[in-house]
Amino acid sequence: MNMEFTRKLTIPMEVKKMYPMTAEMERIRDERAEEIRDIFSGKSNKFILIIGPCSADNEDSVIDYILRLREVQEKVKDKIFIIPRVYTNKPRTTGDGYKGLLHQPDPNAKPDMFKGIVAIRELHMKALKETGFTCADEMLLGYVAVGARSVENQEHRLTASGLDTPVGMKNPTSGDYSVMMNSITAAQHRHTFIYRGWEVHSQGNPYTHAILRGYMNKHGQSLPNYHYEDLVRLCEFYGERKDLENPAVIIDTNHANSGKNPFEQVRISKEVINNCKFREDIKKLVKGLMIESYIEDGAQKIGEGCYGKSITDACLGWEKSERLIYDIADML
Ligand code: PEP
Ligand code: MN
Repeated sequence: MNMEFTRKLTIPMEVKKMYPMTAEMERIRDERAEEIRDIFSGKSNKFILIIGPCSADNEDSVIDYILRLREVQEKVKDKIFIIPRVYTNKPRTTGDGYKGLLHQPDPNAKPDMFKGIVAIRELHMKALKETGFTCADEMLLGYVAVGARSVENQEHRLTASGLDTPVGMKNPTSGDYSVMMNSITAAQHRHTFIYRGWEVHSQGNPYTHAILRGYMNKHGQSLPNYHYEDLVRLCEFYGERKDLENPAVIIDTNHANSGKNPFEQVRISKEVINNCKFREDIKKLVKGLMIESYIEDGAQKIGEGCYGKSITDACLGWEKSERLIYDIADML
């Protein structure tokens, strides 16, 4: 093999034993999980905001950010259910660059996967303990998203079929809806497969749904898919797949939808909510938004050291984000 086996890592089950949850943390997690499932099944009419930085690169600034969200959450709790983004594992376009806390618990230091696993566990636990939020990540805890580069991958689909957390399948970077719909179908069904050295049987995950994040055309240009016509098309795709449960979509307002201009997220969020008013089936389908937001506007290079500023995709800063959440609450 053309690789060096450096060390055997602790498996997640052991890390969980090393860093156990308290009964109170488990209670909050279960309560929130039920509320999230109720939104996806239509039992609750609350609107979901999955909001936070592109990558959770620093424990202090991420917890600081989430504590701010907690205050806002209390004020809009009748209409909005906030799930902070705590993204600790970033699939990158070319494979190069900062890959998240899992690979680099310190973005300025060399990768250390063991410290990374521990850092992720600690960050998610700290968020739950200190802010009462279970968070969204690419494959962990309160809400799971499968990214545009992973949505066609068998392992992701089968693993999603064995989770009890709602899983959002993003459209692939090409924008092909059928890849995303196939991924939702795969994850909603039962499977037998190999998982961490075990043969496992999954039950299928009825809360797997779509995330529209925009796409790239053959000329490498970003194009949006949050417009009214895109939502109508998605309703039609769901209409053709009668076997799918809990039809739902989250609109990712950044990435190719904003052309990576984070300030466009304000307009895009408002446009999506406005479009929900024209058709009952669209209103029912759109369960919420995914917004990339942090303490400071924009992005910086690793090593610049600006507190609370993204080192991956550019984000909407706190002041604008806070105003946006209140505006969304007023529009709902
Ligand atoms: C992200 O959510 O930060 C991300 C990498 O998304 P996508 O998979 O849509 O590019
Ligand atoms: Mn991003």
